[in-house]
Amino acid sequence: MGRKLDLSGLTDEEAEHVLQVVQRDFSLRKKEEERLSEMKQRLDEEGNKCNILSKQQKFNEHCCIRCCSPFTFLINSKRQCQDCKYNICKSCSSYQKKEKAWICSVCQQASRSRSR
Ligand SMILES: [Zn+2]
Ligand SMILES: [Zn+2]
Repeated sequence: MGRKLDLSGLTDEEAEHVLQVVQRDFSLRKKEEERLSEMKQRLDEEGNKCNILSKQQKFNEHCCIRCCSPFTFLINSKRQCQDCKYNICKSCSSYQKKEKAWICSVCQQASRSRSR
């Protein structure tokens, strides 16, 4: 969209028909958009916001990928999960003595269910 339709070469009847088609297409698109945004909202509610945001590396530079809280020097320092390589905060990470590495809560759960 965004392109203007040139209706000057059309008869009134044709122009009206084109407009009808465009309008129908537009309302369909709008419905689809509404549906998508509703779906997105539902995803957000399920806590997948972080997964979507994680695709934006900049976000993870400054915020924990798991709880979205911003990193602050010393108080909430940034550490990297050994498994998923995302930056995570203090409360979302736990130290794995065996691996001598930090791992995020999600990966910890995953590895726990794997070993079972
Ligand atoms: Zn966190
Ligand atoms: Zn992880």
